[in-house]
Amino acid sequence: MAGNVILILGGTREAIEIACDLEQIENTTVITSLAGVTRSPRLPKGKVRYGGFGGKDGLFDYLIWEKITLVIDATHPFAEKITKNAYEASKRANIPCLHFSRKPWEKTAQDKWYEVENSKAAASTLTQKDFECVKNVFLTIGRQDVNCFYSINTKQFFVRSIEPVKELGCFENMKWIQGRGPFAFQDEYTFFKEHSIDCLVAKNSGGYASHPKIDVARFIGVPVVLVQQPKSINIKQIYDRESLTAFVSHHLSG
Ligand code: NAP
Repeated sequence: MAGNVILILGGTREAIEIACDLEQIENTTVITSLAGVTRSPRLPKGKVRYGGFGGKDGLFDYLIWEKITLVIDATHPFAEKITKNAYEASKRANIPCLHFSRKPWEKTAQDKWYEVENSKAAASTLTQKDFECVKNVFLTIGRQDVNCFYSINTKQFFVRSIEPVKELGCFENMKWIQGRGPFAFQDEYTFFKEHSIDCLVAKNSGGYASHPKIDVARFIGVPVVLVQQPKSINIKQIYDRESLTAFVSHHLSG
């Protein structure tokens, strides 16, 4: 491939938007990498590759082999491993790399948030006295950590994710709900009301696509157990597309 070759680590709405912007730059090839965990992912403009690289060494080899000139990590704020690998592999390959991320949501005076460090702590919070009366929990942390909640059998869980969680069939109190953002306030509100949701468990993902559930919880006074974003590593962070374009222009040749 001649010219500039940008690797976008994707799996998010933002990665699709960035690919669309960068595709327009002359003399530049854009490759988006997807982990391959979603069966029918939304596809960005430009080239797409699927599947893991084989850790940071595999990613380093890929960067060299494909003559990548710039890496944009636009993965989800909770995708910690790939961000760390991107940082380390691009540093070793001497290629500029940045993390295009989302600022965490900020609590307002009306929010009833219980902020916790991880999913295990979120599950533990649900067993505390404050939550004794909670009956119906809306669990929106994706598929990965749902097992942290399997031992809680005194509440009904509604687990929303893009792909099914097979193990849920083993638990009478766990119901899977298929869902892929963006979600509208009215739809979320209807869901909360229809299922008498009296607690929301979510990740503080930032961005607008999944924020309406937070708005609904605030509106109807439901407590939210909110998992904090992992601490960021020393990678350059950019939060808006204008700054990203400036960064890219600065680093591209020709
Ligand atoms: P992770 O824990 O950081 O990564 C696990 C492994 O998956 C990585 O070590 C890497 O495998 C592979 N991988 C992850 N993202 C990749 C990408 N864009 N291209 C190629 N390989 C990738 O990530 P995760 O939390 O499992 O998330 C997986 C994907 O889902 C990410 O692309 C992320 O943007 C998206 N996503 C995650 C969440 C979330 O809450 N975690 C939510 C929405 C979307 P190798 O080490 O073999 O390279």
